[in-house]
Amino acid sequence: MKNLEKYKERLLGEKKKIEDEIKDLRVYDMGSSDEDRHGEEKADEIEEFMNASGEIAPLEARLEDIKIALDKMSEGTYGLCEKCHKEIDEKVLEVDPESRLCQVCKSAE
Ligand SMILES: [Zn+2]
Repeated sequence: MKNLEKYKERLLGEKKKIEDEIKDLRVYDMGSSDEDRHGEEKADEIEEFMNASGEIAPLEARLEDIKIALDKMSEGTYGLCEKCHKEIDEKVLEVDPESRLCQVCKSAE
């Protein structure tokens, strides 16, 4: 893909921004525990999702999509729809570089 570097830069920028936002939100949201969260503990993670303010969950979901997109870049599968495996339209990636589905599959959801 010709614009890969451009999208990568945008994704990395977004990732940083969202991580900072989450960090800020968590300062206000922080309850009794302030332990670092690690990806492995799924059950805890879900629980924290429920406890977290409504603002954090969508940010984390987005962050997850961005990480997946960056992983795909290193695997060379970035820009392909997860459902139909066709190339995602550049117009979609332009708006949403972490997009995992093409326009057709997205609107079918
Ligand atoms: Zn598709």
